[in-house]
Amino acid sequence: MSETSRFRSLEDGHGALKGAQTAWDMLSEEQMQKHITTGCEELDAILGGGIHCKEVTEVGGVPGIGKTQLGIQLAVNVQIPVECGGLGGKAVYIDTEGSFMVERAHQIAEGCISDLLDNTAHRLKDFPACPERLQPNSFLANIFYFRICSYTEQIATINYLEKFLEEQKDVKIIVVDSITFHFRQDFDDLALRTRVLGGMSLKLMRFAKKYSLAVVLLNQVTTKFVEGSFHLTLALGDTWSHACTNRIILYWNGNDRHAYIDKSPSLRSATTPFLITGKGIRN
Ligand code: ADP
Repeated sequence: MSETSRFRSLEDGHGALKGAQTAWDMLSEEQMQKHITTGCEELDAILGGGIHCKEVTEVGGVPGIGKTQLGIQLAVNVQIPVECGGLGGKAVYIDTEGSFMVERAHQIAEGCISDLLDNTAHRLKDFPACPERLQPNSFLANIFYFRICSYTEQIATINYLEKFLEEQKDVKIIVVDSITFHFRQDFDDLALRTRVLGGMSLKLMRFAKKYSLAVVLLNQVTTKFVEGSFHLTLALGDTWSHACTNRIILYWNGNDRHAYIDKSPSLRSATTPFLITGKGIRN
């Protein structure tokens, strides 16, 4: 085969190479990108609309700052019906720390539904079947919960997810709360730990792209000694930083909770305050 015919055999009808995507296609895809609202308008605004589907977002912060609350909120918000401007999806919640509280998920679902009824009532008039789906129990039934008690179980569950996602095509978010807990407790070989976690995040990134879903990895913070003082830094630090597309840090500023975009290929660094209310994450 000559060089020209070998090249032609790789072309599609439009002169582009098979398997390659043009930057124009990528821009159009980006503009069609779906987002999951966090419940806080300001946080959605600095995120460019909310948590991005097809990407892996890491959320880090000190204990009690609201990582699990955000994880539960996203597992609820991903279910906002398409008629109300949402994704109408389902959630996978992988709980390694035992922090998911079903009563709290019920409360957050109630909060989400009452806001939808207040804010999108005009749209719901056109979709009479929609309000019937707006029941807290229906929201709970669409969260697939996996309780993980060891790192081997975590690896096995992530491997099993491929089959699960093939069967459950409506899953639009995977929350891992937290990605590092068992690995920090029980894994002595640090180089191997980095490789195993790297492999896990690559797999999750592949799921995000293949199934157009959002992956949210909650992460703990640790202290690092830099230039004579201790600084808070995310667990696994620099060895892990390439594994996620976006990184959001939650932190205290006095008595107020703030969120900060620490890393993103497309968003500028920005900070916003947010609240945790009885209804969930809000402005
Ligand atoms: P993290 O996962 O970062 O350790 P959590 O997401 O568990 O933290 O957040 C726990 C905090 O969320 C609590 O300390 C409390 O301030 C807040 N919180 C939890 N439930 C409610 C509620 N019903 N109303 C208001 N705030 C709440």
